[in-house]
Amino acid sequence: MGVPGYRVVKGSGIFNHSFGGDSWTTPICPNCKTNSHLIFCFNLTDSRLNQIYNRSLKDLPLVSCLNCSSYWERQVFKIDPVNRKVNIVKQIDNERWVSEEEDRLPYPLPVSAMTLQQFQKVDTPSTDEPSDLAFEAFGSEYVCRILGKPLYAVDNINKNCECCNNPMEYVATICSEDFNSEGLVHENFSFNFGESFLYFYLCKVCNILETEMQST
Ligand SMILES: [Zn+2]
Ligand SMILES: [Zn+2]
Repeated sequence: MGVPGYRVVKGSGIFNHSFGGDSWTTPICPNCKTNSHLIFCFNLTDSRLNQIYNRSLKDLPLVSCLNCSSYWERQVFKIDPVNRKVNIVKQIDNERWVSEEEDRLPYPLPVSAMTLQQFQKVDTPSTDEPSDLAFEAFGSEYVCRILGKPLYAVDNINKNCECCNNPMEYVATICSEDFNSEGLVHENFSFNFGESFLYFYLCKVCNILETEMQST
């Protein structure tokens, strides 16, 4: 039994986890020149997130531009908790693709209060069990998983921190909503950035956040 994981779903609890907004300053995307999205923000004083809590980091912002090819490759961000700002350390974008204007997600994303719900059995298939049902629920019932065992679309991901070279901790994965499941993160809002899974890793010594994308 590993670390428990949670579905991130709409609703308020005593910890103010959130979707969207602009409570952190996000970097300008080098490709499409707009603000990267603040996608989710987690309050790390929630004891369920103990594993990623550190004294300098009270909130964990998950950021990425979702309107262009910048997230297709690995991205490295440095979190500056004092100024509530996220900076780009490394971004490799060879595609330089930007989505059509009508498909773009707004900046900032609309704000919603979010809450954590312990994984259901379906969310954590064992290694010798097919993960189809888990992938079916992910995107139709919820769009963000935090902690627990990552659900990889392709291969396992192992990361070492860009700054200190120590292994990074897996934090969360996000995906788009299925077309008939709109409103999972905000009433009458469609959260769609393509058929990809975006994995977030953290080094809590350096406050380095990294992303990696997979698609099926
Ligand atoms: Zn962009
Ligand atoms: Zn580090």
